Amino acid sequence: MSLGEHKYSYLRNLRGRNALRFSGRSSFVREIMLERVFPTRIILPMKQHYGDECIPIVKEGEHVLIGQCVGIPREGTFAVPIHAGISGDVTEIKRIRLPNGTECQAICIESDRKRTRHPSVVLPRMELNISASMVMGIIRDSGIVGLGGEGIPTIAKINRARQAGVNELLVNILQSEPYALGDLFIAGEYSDYVIMGAVAVAGACGVHNISILIAADKTDEIEALKIAAKRVMAEYSDFNISFKLFRDRFPQGYYRLVARALYGKELSEDDTLEDTCGAVLFNCSTLYACWDAIGGNMPLTGRLITISDGEGGGHNVLAPIGTPVSELLNTVNGISETESRVIWGACLTGLPVSDPDNTPIIKTTTAITVVRKREIVITKCIHCGKCAENCPMDINPGLIAKLINKRAYNVADEEKACECIACGTCSYVCPAGLDLTGSVAKYAAGLGSRKNKTLENDIRNIKSQGSVPYTEKISIGSVSMLEPYTEDESSGEADDDSRIYLPFEGGKEV
Ligand code: SF4
Ligand code: SF4
Repeated sequence: MSLGEHKYSYLRNLRGRNALRFSGRSSFVREIMLERVFPTRIILPMKQHYGDECIPIVKEGEHVLIGQCVGIPREGTFAVPIHAGISGDVTEIKRIRLPNGTECQAICIESDRKRTRHPSVVLPRMELNISASMVMGIIRDSGIVGLGGEGIPTIAKINRARQAGVNELLVNILQSEPYALGDLFIAGEYSDYVIMGAVAVAGACGVHNISILIAADKTDEIEALKIAAKRVMAEYSDFNISFKLFRDRFPQGYYRLVARALYGKELSEDDTLEDTCGAVLFNCSTLYACWDAIGGNMPLTGRLITISDGEGGGHNVLAPIGTPVSELLNTVNGISETESRVIWGACLTGLPVSDPDNTPIIKTTTAITVVRKREIVITKCIHCGKCAENCPMDINPGLIAKLINKRAYNVADEEKACECIACGTCSYVCPAGLDLTGSVAKYAAGLGSRKNKTLENDIRNIKSQGSVPYTEKISIGSVSMLEPYTEDESSGEADDDSRIYLPFEGGKEV
């Protein structure tokens, strides 16, 4: 398909009436140059992904370098490794609790302010004539997870796509929550990395059709991606890259909404996008990270994050994973922590931070939002119907919240409480100031939502296949885990047809 023949597919109005447009969205994404944050210390939790907690492989007092692996999966568990994003000394290893309720060990590193890279990641990868199985090994050992917020190890998604025999890779640039704009920045400014990452991951999944999902009004980003796609397709004529344009509204990047919009399919409890629609969805920041690991030889040590005051001011910064929230807030002028509420995430789906000094950003943190404290007058439900009208999952949050309050759990289940995707919309629109999301989403999470059940099955399958034998490949010690697999070490699934060849020496010139 040529670039002039893009498929245009507009998101159907979810129920003909309920999509939200946020006129207050800021355009600061392209107005302010990307800043880098160099924190004085980082706190690296050993569980930043969907799966099991890693174990630290460094000791207190040990000196670590950028890119060095400091946490690995326990034998027989499902996890991906964790790497240091600054150089310095390990000062403490302690248990911490994150705003999302995760409790785990964390490695505290004090910066030496030298920003020294580990020898294994000093140079970009020079040998890029690598197979699909090697791509998978690099992605796994680089600790890459879904950076859009879901945190599923990317290697697990690739494995699932291979098992399902999908025929399309979807690049998710449908970030639409107000003031969370990191994905768009990546898409516009690092479009070559996103496209190369998509091609590499598509090769690993065994697919040749790549569709970029983006809002139609993001014209600058679309233009940048088109140029990159044209350049890459000239090298890889086997890959088709097309654009599927959506209206700008919230929410729409969630995989079940994508299935509804693109394929007209309502995913039931046991469906996955891979099995039902023959497609696998990757966030664009995840694909950027994949290419940074493949071409740049850099494991996942930092991420782009949006710092916003929730009123239109803010900026995108590149920060090492583990940077304390308080150090990020120092990059924003005029924020007073006493007058503000700090949110770990974006304003609709984020969680409150009670201790910004000791709360780090993790791999899945897309934004830090600061909102002014204000007294919210909470009243009884006035039966306006706005929550049900705007819920993208077609459930009635007001009713379900009442049922949960009354402990009528059976009826709440019948009302499909477990369908909630925690998008935050119902609380946002409720004129009575009720925390409907807190109530419904917490209940759904407690039930073990459908998605998690699917993932658990997925993880079990992957474990039983033995296709991700992390601990067998990882030697404990101060070594990077970026050594690619050899063909002999692969799962045996890769064959000549699944080889992809990356033509750019070092990957930086793309
Ligand atoms: S948070 Fe859950 S219940 Fe509320 S609007 Fe979103 S999906 Fe619906
Ligand atoms: S939006 Fe709030 S006030 Fe309106 S029906 Fe729902 S719960 Fe009641």
